[in-house]
Amino acid sequence: MTKTLSQISTIESLRSAVREAKSNGRKVALVPTMGYLHEGHLSLVEEASKQADFVVVSIFVNPLQFGENEDLANYPRDLDHDLRLLSASGHCDVAFTPSVEEMYPVPLVTTVQLPSMASKLCGRTRPIHFAGVATVVTKLFQIVQPDVACFGQKDGQQLAVIRRMVKDLNMPVNVVGVPTVREEDGLAKSSRNVYLSKEEREHAPVLYQALSWAKAEIERGQRDATEIVRGVRERIEQDSIARLDYVEAVEMDTLESVSVLSGDVMIAVAAYFGKARLIDNIQLHVE
Ligand code: AMP
Repeated sequence: MTKTLSQISTIESLRSAVREAKSNGRKVALVPTMGYLHEGHLSLVEEASKQADFVVVSIFVNPLQFGENEDLANYPRDLDHDLRLLSASGHCDVAFTPSVEEMYPVPLVTTVQLPSMASKLCGRTRPIHFAGVATVVTKLFQIVQPDVACFGQKDGQQLAVIRRMVKDLNMPVNVVGVPTVREEDGLAKSSRNVYLSKEEREHAPVLYQALSWAKAEIERGQRDATEIVRGVRERIEQDSIARLDYVEAVEMDTLESVSVLSGDVMIAVAAYFGKARLIDNIQLHVE
């Protein structure tokens, strides 16, 4: 059934809408986003509407997860476009669009920290990022009290951090990971792709090409993580524009580096194309 979208900007009104949905026996799903929505976000919204009856999509550019020299002020925003997309999708009941003052009326004294996971991979260049994410997601969980929350596999470290936080703190939320939506040439859809010049955009699919090579090697039986990491690194370093930040093979649950691929693992990459820092990964279950 096609849903009719409402926009709600205050915590109090959102709580009352959720309370009413729950009192009608409806299961509630949350999709946290920072807006500038694209098909990747919409696949999360569609999944949420399969998992639950009442779907809340939050649109909030969270200052807490941006470092001092990052793109908070320039982060792309277009609320009208986002609301049109959500409405046209027919899968979203409420767009929750709080202001920064609504979410952070006073500076926080309480935060959620996961140092061992937050300091790995992207955490090395973005040391405060995942505490900011964990804290805002905890606040959103407290505000919406969803039964289900959908996150993209594209942000693999974020998904791992949220899963662990929910487990450690007994949050009664079922976290669902949704596969990455890509452009035709393999580039993962991202709000940050707008930062790419035409030339950078042409080179950016090298990340997925390198990861696809890794996937094929692993499917052919390669279990040596060092060989996989070396092959992915070489492929990205051969590109004339990409500036590699990292390539790593990690255990999905802990984000610890692995030398042998086994169980649930992720091969994760980050690279700069001009001023845009792009991330991508593949997640595999290796027998
Ligand atoms: P963001 O607005 O970038 O914070 O992303 C909000 C949610 O959408 C996160 O759970 C992301 O992992 C997810 N997401 C972003 N891009 C994609 C994509 N290309 N495919 C699937 N999920 C995505």
